[in-house]
Amino acid sequence: MIPKRKTRCVQIGSVKIGGKAPILLQSMTKTDTTDVAGCLRQIRKLAQAGAGLVRIAVPTRADTEAFAKIVSRSPLPLAADIHFSPERAIEAIEAGAVKIRLNPGNIKNKNDIHRIIDCAKRHHIAIRIGVNEASIRDLKHDVKTDRRVSLMLNEMTGYVRLFERRKFEAIVLSAKSADTVRTIEINRLLSKTFDYPIHIGLTHAGLLEDALVPSAVAIGTLLAEGIGDTVRVSIAGDPVQEIETGKQILSSLGLYRGPKPELTVCPTCGRCEVDVVGLAQKVRRLLMKTNKPIRVAVMGCVVNGPGEAADADLAICAGSKKGFLYKNGKKIAAVEEKTLLGALSAEIEKIK
Ligand code: SF4
Repeated sequence: MIPKRKTRCVQIGSVKIGGKAPILLQSMTKTDTTDVAGCLRQIRKLAQAGAGLVRIAVPTRADTEAFAKIVSRSPLPLAADIHFSPERAIEAIEAGAVKIRLNPGNIKNKNDIHRIIDCAKRHHIAIRIGVNEASIRDLKHDVKTDRRVSLMLNEMTGYVRLFERRKFEAIVLSAKSADTVRTIEINRLLSKTFDYPIHIGLTHAGLLEDALVPSAVAIGTLLAEGIGDTVRVSIAGDPVQEIETGKQILSSLGLYRGPKPELTVCPTCGRCEVDVVGLAQKVRRLLMKTNKPIRVAVMGCVVNGPGEAADADLAICAGSKKGFLYKNGKKIAAVEEKTLLGALSAEIEKIK
């Protein structure tokens, strides 16, 4: 088990971030916020996928009004994403946000920041202080990349002190960059400097295909060092993909605590006698319908397959036009290729 660095625990509605709490996966709705039914549909899918918190953008007054309706019917605690407007921040808090994400750098008037902090304090909610590399105040285009990290830390330090002087400590920190190395460096510095919980992830990571590897490297490196209390994988696309990817990153480090099936597939080679990839994709779709913590293996042959699948709860080792079904390493049936999936599904059903 990877030891997690010690951080304070901050209560976020019904969930906790930091301390000994499990690392929380979060995402954002991608629907128009005034589309209350659409947002709720997305939130329910995120809840089913394993999200613990969902953030919603509230750029207009109409959005904070819709936010209030969404909060009252949401199965998950909701955070509001604030940029530029102290009024939206206060409206969102009064509407029932359990946390707001605020970049104090884009609230011009210090008194307005104080008003937001005081309102959050009255409502016992948390604030994520978000600093983005792209919006650092002193950043000029010619600033060398290694200086950018120290500028981000300076900016964050100034904001944290401002909140602390106002006696507000229900804080989560996030410093984001689209660059993998700078994301790792700034979060290492945050972790050394503060004991507040840290939200990790890349910003603007891109489409699924482009976001996966950089996100896994940045988030995975930090988590492996014990840094990070909540994770958001930013993907331009379906937010459920953000949670699925976050679960995979956590699982690969043994940090995922929820129930989740796992699929192992052999890499395939010249010994395969069936379409292993096609079969594995069907098995994957089957497993997406269950939350049972089972391990399933799909192997392309009976030469190495049984040995490699011995650790799985259930395994298919394919042969010529048929396959062998294994349970806990023991062969339980020989099945025609076309009925393999049905036979596997029936065995999954039997597992409690
Ligand atoms: S399990 Fe069989 S088919 Fe799959 S990679 Fe190994 S030897 Fe090849």
